[in-house]
Amino acid sequence: MKTTVTRVPLRLANSHLVRGKKTIIVDTGDPGFSHGLYRAMQREGINRSDISLIFITHGHIDHYGSVFALKKALDVPVAVHRLDQIYLEKGTQAPLYPLNRPAALLKRVGQGMRVRHNNFKADIIVDDHLDLLRFGVEGFILPTPGHTLGSASLILPDSCAITGDLIIRRHFFRGPAEACVFLHDKEKYHNSVNLLKLCGVKKIYPGHGASIDMEPVYAREERIRRRSTQTKYDQR
Ligand SMILES: [Zn+2]
Repeated sequence: MKTTVTRVPLRLANSHLVRGKKTIIVDTGDPGFSHGLYRAMQREGINRSDISLIFITHGHIDHYGSVFALKKALDVPVAVHRLDQIYLEKGTQAPLYPLNRPAALLKRVGQGMRVRHNNFKADIIVDDHLDLLRFGVEGFILPTPGHTLGSASLILPDSCAITGDLIIRRHFFRGPAEACVFLHDKEKYHNSVNLLKLCGVKKIYPGHGASIDMEPVYAREERIRRRSTQTKYDQR
């Protein structure tokens, strides 16, 4: 089964259409952006009946805001990790942990945002590895916490993955790829990047901006690991 990924930029955040025998929508953009996805589906020759699942990478509104309208229109299950499920169901933001001053300012605006919906419940709660063959796509969902505690990624054949906001290019989504400026747990972030490496992921489709080659990211992680080992050794 051949798998293709189409990036659908929806204002700031990306949605992705992952196509095998059926099609999975990964993330949905801010509220009011379902029309952007319908246009992309039309361009790609994907019918509404081809959609088998909506997978939300994490509980931030710019990634799940249109899920309520899409679920209603397409009548398909929605999958999200257990630890971020509550933010979709309450229509709130997963906690934002800023790494720098501009991010702290953004948090002031972003943290209190809400989306209204009618008793939305996620259908598939991800705790661990979730195979996607029953949704007509070769690949699986894997928890990759760091940015939020309930962040998860879709691991695909051909050494690719869709990773939400685990890794992005800072500086307006250009420049070197690293952890997002909102990072809940640094150690979990490093473990998640290592997990992608162990899964053989060479290219990621992030939640913002174009695809990222993972080789420099792994090299950077290796430098950080060596530095921290050296510091521990020096402190003996
Ligand atoms: Zn996010």
